Amino acid sequence: MSAEPNSAAKQKDAPTSHASPDVQAFKHSILAKLKYAVGKDPANAYIHDWFEAIALAARDHLVDNWEESEARVDRKQQKRVYYLSLEFLIGRLLVDCLSNLGLLETAKAALAELDVDIERIREVEPDAALGNGGLGRLAACFMESMATLNIAGHGYGIRYEHGLFKQVISDGWQHEHTETWLDFGNPWEFERPEVSYNIGFGGSVNTVTERNDVPRQHWQPTEIIRAIAYDTPVVGWRRAGVNTLRLWRARALEDLQLERFNAGDHLGAVADVVRAESISRVLYPADSTEAGQELRLRQEYFFVSASLQDLLHRHMRLHGDIHSLPEKVAIQLNDTHPAIAVAELMRQLVDVYRIEWFAAWELSVATLSYTNHTLLPEALESWPVSLMERLLPRHMQIIYLINAYHIDSLRAQDIHDFELLRSVSLIDEEHGRRVRMGNLAFLGSHSINGVSALHTDLMRETVFRDLHNLYPDRIRNKTNGVTFRRWLYQVNPQLTQLLIENIGQGVLDSPESSLIKLEPFAEKPAFRKQFIAQRQHSKAALARLVKERMNIDLNTEAIFDVQVKRIHEYKRQLLNLLHTVALYQAIRNDPTTDWVPRVKIFAGKAAASYHQAKLIIKLANDISRTINDDPTVRGLLKVVFIPNYNVSLAETIIPAADLSEQISTAGMEASGTSNMKFALNGALTIGTLDGANVEMSQLIGAEHMFIFGMTAQEVKVRMGNGDYDTIHVIKNSERLNGALEAISKGVFSPDDPERYTGLIDGLVHHDRYMLCADFDSYWDAQRKVDELWQNPNQWWRSAVLNTARTGWFSSDRTIREYAEDIWKAMPPEKKKG
Ligand SMILES: *Cc1c(COP(=O)(O)O)cnc(C)c1O
Repeated sequence: MSAEPNSAAKQKDAPTSHASPDVQAFKHSILAKLKYAVGKDPANAYIHDWFEAIALAARDHLVDNWEESEARVDRKQQKRVYYLSLEFLIGRLLVDCLSNLGLLETAKAALAELDVDIERIREVEPDAALGNGGLGRLAACFMESMATLNIAGHGYGIRYEHGLFKQVISDGWQHEHTETWLDFGNPWEFERPEVSYNIGFGGSVNTVTERNDVPRQHWQPTEIIRAIAYDTPVVGWRRAGVNTLRLWRARALEDLQLERFNAGDHLGAVADVVRAESISRVLYPADSTEAGQELRLRQEYFFVSASLQDLLHRHMRLHGDIHSLPEKVAIQLNDTHPAIAVAELMRQLVDVYRIEWFAAWELSVATLSYTNHTLLPEALESWPVSLMERLLPRHMQIIYLINAYHIDSLRAQDIHDFELLRSVSLIDEEHGRRVRMGNLAFLGSHSINGVSALHTDLMRETVFRDLHNLYPDRIRNKTNGVTFRRWLYQVNPQLTQLLIENIGQGVLDSPESSLIKLEPFAEKPAFRKQFIAQRQHSKAALARLVKERMNIDLNTEAIFDVQVKRIHEYKRQLLNLLHTVALYQAIRNDPTTDWVPRVKIFAGKAAASYHQAKLIIKLANDISRTINDDPTVRGLLKVVFIPNYNVSLAETIIPAADLSEQISTAGMEASGTSNMKFALNGALTIGTLDGANVEMSQLIGAEHMFIFGMTAQEVKVRMGNGDYDTIHVIKNSERLNGALEAISKGVFSPDDPERYTGLIDGLVHHDRYMLCADFDSYWDAQRKVDELWQNPNQWWRSAVLNTARTGWFSSDRTIREYAEDIWKAMPPEKKKG
């Protein structure tokens, strides 16, 4: 991309325009924004100036609808839903906004008149990457679905100055570079300096007795930080509603300690500022792994306290009675990251609003609900009691009180089982006294949900087994979904057009019920041909991207076999790499067999501190180089690791996939959402019966997927028995043994032959994710993939059925279930799907 001024707009003599009045109006508003808001004229505008002008022009439309939407919620006294999430993985917003506003065609026409290329404009927008992976992307899909369903939803989170790191691969290794999404400003947000709250840390708690002789706890923090609101409007499909994503930025109370500065201490004068503002400086890059740092706890409390203060203020302003809180407000906690909300809401109700403890507890539990996202023990948050006492002394008292009252209530029910009491306690006494945030979230919520049927069942059996026995009605399932506006209409306009032509416009407004009408088209050769054509279009686009970024040529006639997601051992990218190596060896041993050509595509980031995951990235790159350089397999096998996976890259990759790899160890992936995006776009899934794959296989039909490997139950039994003998398994699989040996002996790392010896030894001696156990079954499933690919009629029939039967995985369905079952916040006119 050139940064030259005037690089987007070619000047030409303006011909008299025949465009519609809407197009003319939009064009004028773009030119007005360019001139008065950006301060440029078309002749010296940079591509980024055009982006800003167009975004601001679109934003005006958002604002008009935003005000109306707010007024409607107030008028109807609608219940408000607050979605608290430490992550929102939003991606780009321009096409999303234009499309939901119904202005995409208008904008395209207006830009064509100005001779500006919308594709180039789209690509200069940086991704808002305020999240790591699935959990953050879910929050973004939910925001859009709430707006679409007219639910009065508010998102609350942190306005990180730096989102998820930019991944640079050099010499095959991942390097993390600072991400700078705000460098050119952010045209979508409104700074609200007048919306600001004080957040306390540290200090002590004193008992004070007031005139009425009632003793009260008074927290005197030693440190106060200000939270400043930044609002981004979120528009629903066809402007149904416009909600607000409110992100908090941390500021020091004073920007400069002038007396210290004047005394010559120039650095000391800003030290507090640096400390305060570090809270919203950067997103923690941990995904399903532990991020146990004091700064992380400060982030969690910071945004929770600001959000609760804000929503309680709004509630009091609108309704004037704190007791009606659960009637008018629902608060959803996205994982345990905001679990301190249980203690903070109690603190506000008891200490600030002066509600009696037990009444406050009832209000709290009735208002809060919690979503669990992982069963991995290393990802379950807990904080050292000593840290909590130092940072949040009043909250620690409240947690002890909640715990004591809870244990009293159990004893009162004649429950004295010591093991049980220990397991449901908020304090873990075995690992140096820690506060269990999962148990806190559970006790403080009226609803606890898992994110797929299997995950919810396992929650009941494992992490929350004892709490579930005490409160059998609290746990429920809400299987994840994705917004079809982004993951079908925007990423795949060709497929969308094809759907509209064949099953009608209704697919845009009610895909949940309309997509199924596609079923009979799976049998029609003419339709399948068009279905193939749109896939080829997307594959060509991905091949262009790979050529541009990596200078690698891809054969678009080959199967595009894709695994893109965070790099994590439980997701088993290593299993896919073992298959890649085994396939490579098989082709080399027998190059004249008519192998089915494959392109293996990988992308994903590893947490900066997760060494094993980073080594797997290096291995993928080493394997890629070796295979791509080997003339024996040319045209049959290619491997690419595309750097810097993010939402925008996903948008190019997903519509181009023929095969979707969803191969986690059964029982470990809570739901997955990329599995849904792929199937919606007609990729076939090769996967284990894990997370939402299980429900996909029920709805799509297992015969249209490639299911392999152990079930969660089998994994549990085999792990539990302690009779999982990896060495025996390897001995019995020549292919697996061959792949392991090649990697271990340095075939892919001749520069450092022992680079992977430890990695492979680890597998052989402690295969925690059971790659070896599933390898043969995975290999067989991959050969079924080859077989089906050679029968295009059957392959594309299954592909069409995947799209046709994925309607249920719309996040509109998920949100409707939350709204009806947990929040009781469905607007009456939207109650029917
Ligand atoms: C959908 C999505 C994810 C989640 O992927 P899973 O395979 O379900 O883990 C992660 N990152 C991005 C950018 C996504 O769009």
